[in-house]
Amino acid sequence: MYTKTRFLNRITLACLILIIAVSCIIASQSDSKTALTADVEAALARISADSLRGHLSFIASDLLEGRDTPSPGLDIAAEYIAAQFRRAGLEPAGDEGFFQTANWGVSERDAKGFDLKFKAAQETISIDKDRVSVSIDKALNLSGTPLFKIATEDAAALDGLKPEQVEGKAVVTEMSDLRRASSAGRRAGNQFLSKINSFKPALILSIDRSGATGSGPGPVRLIDPENRSARGPRANFPLVTVHDSRAAKMYDAMKAGPSDATVSLRLDAPAEKPIKLRNVLGVLRGSDPSLKDTYILVTAHYDHIGKRPGGEGDQIFNGANDDGSGTVSVIELATALATLKERPKRSIVFMTVFGEEKGLLGSRYYGRHPVFPIEKTVANINLEQVGRTDSTEGPQVANATFTGFDYSDVPLIFKAAGEMTGVTVYKHERNSDAFFGRSDNQALADQGVPAHTLCVAYDYPDYHGAGDHWDKIDYSNLERVNRMIALGLVMIANNTEEPKWNEEHPRAARYVKAWKEQRGK
Ligand SMILES: [Zn+2]
Repeated sequence: MYTKTRFLNRITLACLILIIAVSCIIASQSDSKTALTADVEAALARISADSLRGHLSFIASDLLEGRDTPSPGLDIAAEYIAAQFRRAGLEPAGDEGFFQTANWGVSERDAKGFDLKFKAAQETISIDKDRVSVSIDKALNLSGTPLFKIATEDAAALDGLKPEQVEGKAVVTEMSDLRRASSAGRRAGNQFLSKINSFKPALILSIDRSGATGSGPGPVRLIDPENRSARGPRANFPLVTVHDSRAAKMYDAMKAGPSDATVSLRLDAPAEKPIKLRNVLGVLRGSDPSLKDTYILVTAHYDHIGKRPGGEGDQIFNGANDDGSGTVSVIELATALATLKERPKRSIVFMTVFGEEKGLLGSRYYGRHPVFPIEKTVANINLEQVGRTDSTEGPQVANATFTGFDYSDVPLIFKAAGEMTGVTVYKHERNSDAFFGRSDNQALADQGVPAHTLCVAYDYPDYHGAGDHWDKIDYSNLERVNRMIALGLVMIANNTEEPKWNEEHPRAARYVKAWKEQRGK
């Protein structure tokens, strides 16, 4: 009897455990399933490959000339994005409709006074203004200044160089466009230039055979009035790059070291003029009386690197995947979620930012001038390179990854959304942490907002190349990834618990600190 009773008790206990376990599983499933109501499902179904393709074929068209910051192409893109937000029915959230305006300056030189001549042996050649790129933002006036040749790869000559050999002279060397060099090449090039520059030459002339045209003598340097000391990396170097085959021939004929050849140059001082740079943002108001004053920020950068001198062929860097794909996803997500009959509890802010390629300028501007209180912004999902599946690491179909995967619980929410929409959201072991600071989420993370970049392919053929065209995007995959993102956004928006930084993770410590400071904790 005793034994039997104990046995029965054991069975009861086992059953009880089983019932609890099963009901837990059902509860967690229905928890996720409740996110996917018929209303949400209908909104997700509106996200379409054709719509994404339509938007991107415009944003990444040649007309917009690679959306450099600043450029008319960038302004056209901003106007287009604002029009789409308007069409979706978002509430404008800028200072001027959908635009948050940064009143900056730009320093430009009038190219009219430009004059560059070389004199070697009996020959004088005059270089056209379209065949130079100028880094220095001061006036220069040289007449018959002697040239001193030193090759970048001539380490011995550089080591043995004495300041008096080049001070006040024009150093001539050969170097291809550092903007298109590998990071190691750029580092080596900058080291070489810094060393030469420390000897106070009057001018550094760099021969570049990789292109036949340059950016001209009127370099565009952005001026942030709140941070006037920040300049381009070589704005203080008297550097002029020459893309001209006659100059290259003359360089080849010169011996290393001092020479009889001379250079004359006139560069006027640049003048500063005002410019408007714009983030584009709209909000889908939440429905919950208390949660609607909290915000989820969805971002992407709509700028790219513009045009580059490249000689033959395509010179427009269209940036379809980087980051046209993120930009059109922001549009598509806004359009789809705005059709929800029952608005999500929290508000969702859709924003595209300028100047990412010039150093996170637009997102940092927003971080300093947040339209919605930072302490009420519960998460930032930044979208980068979400359209190409032909990663250099192999096909990335139905896959997406987050930077800083373990820094907060945001990625896990999207992992759950991915399970319901057929997208594997995973941690990229090598790049997850390494790429955290490489995009606009960093600006928001620095303010304490749990902020990550969602990416499909970290590296792909045409990355920062002229071939990053809209017809190379995998649109059916982009549709699927967008549905996963839309569902993840709804899940965060409807959850009364807000996402949290991982306080155990050492790399998240500075963000946890900023988060606590923002909230006065
Ligand atoms: Zn990018």
